[in-house]
Amino acid sequence: MDVVEGRPVPTPSPLTEGFWAAAREHRLVIQRCDQCEAYRHYPQPVCPECLSDRWTWTEISGRGVIYTFTVTHQPFHQAWKERTPFAVATIELTEGVRMVSDLPADDVDRVAIGHPVEVFFEDHEIDGTPFTFPRFRLGNDG
Ligand code: ZN
Repeated sequence: MDVVEGRPVPTPSPLTEGFWAAAREHRLVIQRCDQCEAYRHYPQPVCPECLSDRWTWTEISGRGVIYTFTVTHQPFHQAWKERTPFAVATIELTEGVRMVSDLPADDVDRVAIGHPVEVFFEDHEIDGTPFTFPRFRLGNDG
């Protein structure tokens, strides 16, 4: 595992800890409404479609396409200074919801709207605690 120093990391909350726990097992999960079966992401306490507060973490394919992206040349934080330029993309998942991810450095020159992507998992240790980031990378041209 890598040690991530000086890098801001997400703080799991009661609403998001299931997402991060699944990531540690290299599974990508999102919420699915128990009543109308709509997927949603980012985690929300109530279904935006039917207002039900009953939901289940549901493992998804981890596949999708680039919906939109931007390439960052000026880092917003010192921890990313050595990583520029990098791409941040909104991914449209096969399940119909969108998720934001940065892309590996090698993907910056190939990224394009509509390009297929797949999830991968990056294991770190942060202040002695294992932490896994789900990230996306470009797949083969579709
Ligand atoms: Zn619903």
